[in-house]
Amino acid sequence: MTDARIRTEEERAIVQWAATLSDQLSERAKEYDEAGVFVYDQIELLQRAGYGGLTVPKAYGGKGASLYSFLLAQERLAEGDSSAALVMGWSLGITLSLQDTHAWPDALFETFCREAVAGRALVNACGSEPETGSPSRGGRPTTQAIACDGGYQITGHKTWATGSLKLTHIIVTAYIPDLDRVGEFLIRQGAPGLMIEETWDTMSMRGTGSNTLHLNQVFVPAKDALDIIEPGARARRSTDGSGWLLHIPATYLGVANAARRYAIDFAKTYAPNSLGKPIATVPHVRDKIGRIELLRDTARTTLYDVAARYDAASDADRPKMRTDLGLAKVVAMNAALEIVDLAMRVVGGQSLWKSTPLERYYRDVRAGLHNPPMEDAVMAQLASRALE
Ligand SMILES: Cc1cc2nc3c(=O)[nH]c(=O)nc-3n(C[C@H](O)[C@H](O)[C@H](O)COP(=O)(O)OP(=O)(O)OC[C@H]3O[C@@H](n4cnc5c(N)ncnc54)[C@H](O)[C@@H]3O)c2cc1C
Repeated sequence: MTDARIRTEEERAIVQWAATLSDQLSERAKEYDEAGVFVYDQIELLQRAGYGGLTVPKAYGGKGASLYSFLLAQERLAEGDSSAALVMGWSLGITLSLQDTHAWPDALFETFCREAVAGRALVNACGSEPETGSPSRGGRPTTQAIACDGGYQITGHKTWATGSLKLTHIIVTAYIPDLDRVGEFLIRQGAPGLMIEETWDTMSMRGTGSNTLHLNQVFVPAKDALDIIEPGARARRSTDGSGWLLHIPATYLGVANAARRYAIDFAKTYAPNSLGKPIATVPHVRDKIGRIELLRDTARTTLYDVAARYDAASDADRPKMRTDLGLAKVVAMNAALEIVDLAMRVVGGQSLWKSTPLERYYRDVRAGLHNPPMEDAVMAQLASRALE
């Protein structure tokens, strides 16, 4: 079946590339999930293939993917291994936003990009703490940055640090009491005083290695204090409206696609002797598959429409799209949850068995609810737009 969302030959090539990688990842996704360990080799596979350069500008050796193409690739990649896709998604998304916001000095950005293309660099932002909850709510970090000779010393801890064991560049938020400001600081893997505690043990996205970072007087030179803002204000990295965050719903739609494919194959081949023919002929099964298609097409239409408009928008207009971006996330995320549920209903009791991938999709897809933007915040934005 042709994908109506693919508009150009370049997009087709990117999706085909992602599909090849996705199929390779899928061979070991179950193993990582069962062991609950970080998808180290999966990330190495992707880095060796140059996937870390997907959103790197062509001038720095990357593929220069737009938001739209990035989402197409992520959606396909996640069908094979959603944990690996999410780890890469943070890094690729941040790379995309940095080229638009110029939030890093040009030389630092170029060096990072060239290393990412070569498979040697991976970035993520670690803002979450137990005390603040989701950083998207604007809570002030309890992690502190104290000015010292030549820079800052950072002390505190960060939870949910996805990809922690493989990150080379870690963006950490910290409160600067001397200035009553919040800073974004770049910490390199291996920095003295940085310790990763392997705390990640969840039911969902078990391979993401979203561990706890302990920071004990980690020295950050002044040049790596990337942004200093008032508490609650938006960092420069977010001044583009944060379209890159749509990699999250794309990833979870990928999980839903995998569940859909499994259910359709099952319906076409499972023929219980009470029926004497495949269950795909049964009206209630066809109805559920119809609902899956409705949800999936609606979600993808919304997601890719918003992404296309974001790509086409001017720098000044992109931040105004924040509500539409949130809407796309909520629509796609809820569709993904419902698609996995319907797929499991089609398959029936066998969907519960560890030998089928559906129970993993069921667990993984839940996690998207707790990645930004949060649904209640999006609803508040939509209501404000309607009422004010
Ligand atoms: C798979 C996965 C990967 C992640 N990776 C990263 C990462 O790499 N980096 C990172 O920084 N974080 C990461 N996170 C963490 C994520 O960004 C959130 O910080 C985390 O999920 C906690 O969000 P929460 O909504 O449960 O927490 P909270 O914000 O504490 O919310 C908990 C509950 O309290 C309510 N609540 C709390 N505060 C408010 C408020 N001010 N107004 C209204 N309601 C409120 C919420 O509605 C919710 O019901 C990841 C999360 C997941 C699931």
